[in-house]
Amino acid sequence: LLTANNGQTLIIEAGVRFDTIKKALQYNLRNVVGCIITHEHKDHCKAAESMMLAGINCYSTAGTLDAIGVKSHRAMIIGKDQIFSLGDFRLKAFGVKHDVSDPVGYLINHEECGTVLFLTDTYYCEYTFPPLNNILVEANYCQKILDDRLKRGENPKVVRDRVIESHLSIDNCKALLKANDLSKVNNIVLIHLSDKNSDEKRFKREVEELTGKTVHIAEAGLEIDHFNDSPF
Ligand SMILES: [Zn+2]
Ligand SMILES: [Zn+2]
Repeated sequence: LLTANNGQTLIIEAGVRFDTIKKALQYNLRNVVGCIITHEHKDHCKAAESMMLAGINCYSTAGTLDAIGVKSHRAMIIGKDQIFSLGDFRLKAFGVKHDVSDPVGYLINHEECGTVLFLTDTYYCEYTFPPLNNILVEANYCQKILDDRLKRGENPKVVRDRVIESHLSIDNCKALLKANDLSKVNNIVLIHLSDKNSDEKRFKREVEELTGKTVHIAEAGLEIDHFNDSPF
């Protein structure tokens, strides 16, 4: 949830039960301006249908909404690179590289949090972005952990290969951060860590060392108060 001081709330993804989302909203759906979804895997959209039934508009690409398969006037198709507004939030979707029909990441802009990058479920990112103020980015796995688990027989090769072809490694995450202007970045939140193929303490330390920024590991219930647009 991205919540502005006036209460307006943007929901990013619908990958947990709707009950969990409602609880986080303190059962007040009135200020929700909409929900943006990246792709049709359940860990990103499982609550979409319930949300639409509760009157919340869900936004994604035609390919994603089609794959989710919910017929509703609240399923809103957005085009890539089209700028749209939800309340005081301005948004733009851009294509990413994942094994689904039409996945996207989002750039979100609001005067209180500046420009926020939301990027997950992509094995690579070919873009550099306009100056960012906050970053939520996938750091799914570490190549060495993945390879060691394969050697020990803990991960079948097909699973390992699928991870590499669909998710962002910590090394590619760091390369992406390095390729972008981070001078105005306030927070970096590492998201979508694999339970078995990641090492959250090390990932956090490595990204802190690389960027000198405040780095958070996403976990249920994490709240960040000072998501505002100045690092000072
Ligand atoms: Zn996915
Ligand atoms: Zn996912």
